[in-house]
Amino acid sequence: MICPNCKINIRYKKVKRPFIVDQYNEIQIDTKEAHCKSCDMTYQYQGEAHIIKKAVAAFLITPNMMKRKHILLTIDYVLESNIFEVAQKLKVHPKFLNDIVKARAIFTNTLKDKLIDLIIIKFNTPVIELE
Ligand SMILES: [Zn+2]
Repeated sequence: MICPNCKINIRYKKVKRPFIVDQYNEIQIDTKEAHCKSCDMTYQYQGEAHIIKKAVAAFLITPNMMKRKHILLTIDYVLESNIFEVAQKLKVHPKFLNDIVKARAIFTNTLKDKLIDLIIIKFNTPVIELE
């Protein structure tokens, strides 16, 4: 890339960064970073949204990685859905799913597996673009 300040060519290098700092430090995604020695500025490039989404999904379906705090992330961001729709797919009551999110009900392995299945289904479904 060209440094906007100095107009000189600087190189990107690959860096792993947390998906959302503090909240999801455990989810590392590939990003690119370029540092300009001349003006001491660092530029970050996060990559395309769908690639980041895939990286987050890949983390969540890794055995033993999905925790309670990832449920809303899974529903909103990865599945692009809401509690009602996902509860319906999981065949549970929306209130029950909400209680799990709020730590008022146990997040069982069975439910975790079902959520992981939904992620896998979403990412394995071919998208056909009609012209
Ligand atoms: Zn510069």
